[in-house]
Amino acid sequence: MRPYYLDPYTREFTARIVEAVPKDSGVALLLDESYFYPTSGGQEHDEGAIDGIPVTDVYEDNGQVYHFVERKPSNEVVACTIDWTRRFGNMQQHTGQHMLSAAFDTLFDVQTVSSRLGDYAGSIDLSRTPTESEIQEAVGAVNSVIEEDRPISVHFADQNDITKFNLRKPPKVDGTVRIVEVKGFDMSACGGTHCTHTSEVGTVITGNVERVKGALTRIEFYCGGRARRRYYELLSAARDASRLLSSGINDLPLAAARAVSQLQERDARLKALSERILEQLCEKLAAEIGRANPEMTVTDLSTLVQSTEELKFAASGVARKHVGSFIFYRVEQSTCFMNLNLQSDEGRATLLLNELRSVFGAKGGGRNGFYSLTFVAEQLPGVIESIKRSLSHA
Ligand SMILES: [Zn+2]
Repeated sequence: MRPYYLDPYTREFTARIVEAVPKDSGVALLLDESYFYPTSGGQEHDEGAIDGIPVTDVYEDNGQVYHFVERKPSNEVVACTIDWTRRFGNMQQHTGQHMLSAAFDTLFDVQTVSSRLGDYAGSIDLSRTPTESEIQEAVGAVNSVIEEDRPISVHFADQNDITKFNLRKPPKVDGTVRIVEVKGFDMSACGGTHCTHTSEVGTVITGNVERVKGALTRIEFYCGGRARRRYYELLSAARDASRLLSSGINDLPLAAARAVSQLQERDARLKALSERILEQLCEKLAAEIGRANPEMTVTDLSTLVQSTEELKFAASGVARKHVGSFIFYRVEQSTCFMNLNLQSDEGRATLLLNELRSVFGAKGGGRNGFYSLTFVAEQLPGVIESIKRSLSHA
């Protein structure tokens, strides 16, 4: 039997190395006895040190517990230390998970289908979405049980005895089953490390609630010191936001809503204003093209328009004035965006577009004499040359 099944508190012990197997860039040690918890049942493995050499992984292989270290200790009998902050955090988180699942089950008949116990946040997947007030009630019930400092005990039962225990879920293992009982609150089959009194869990809080596949609802939770850490993370985020919005923390939702609506108003005003400027630009460009009256006008709008949308807006505005064939383009970094208005028949335009695609790698298209193209900027002189040649044969 694993020693931590009955004693989850021993964090320093002496053991003898039974086997040292080279693995990856280090060694996996098998000890004659170990209180280290291997990754299993959703609980993270312990960390710590063996003769001062850091233990970075603990895992099960064929029923044995292996401790991964970067090199084999020189002694055969070694001093082992478990990182207690990590282990105790895992115990709090694991015990809190049992109680939270029990609360949803008992109060609202909502079952926990699966759970995860990370090294910071944990989560449970529930069979249906609880309401916000149900979540608060479940969390309240768990924290009451924590305050009552109820004992948590461990039982072992074989398959014949198992029916004597009122388990929340049927066990996943055959043979002897380890049962963790929170007095008067929960009875679960589990091989993990737990606290022995509910008060040690400290507190349980929940976080994000999200729908996950299989029509389940995932609720994030934090226990003990991790709950305090989470609280200060959220407080710091709220303080940053309240500084930015010059508002008290309680007024944040209102201040954020006001800021968003001001932004939307400004966006709309800006859009109307830039459309007016673009329309004036269209007038000016159309007049210039009309005065020059060449076969084809080529205008670089890189400094006059800010985006491909504005380029297209200017080109279609000028095209509506029927001034003749023109090219408007804009170069951004190494890409050229081009809008093309061609006074030629559709068949010739199709030939031209095919040529631009195959020879210059241009992408895009259009119809009725109006086309949008994108290509590598260094192809620009060649593209303009091809378009002019196509027009002169029209
Ligand atoms: Zn457990």
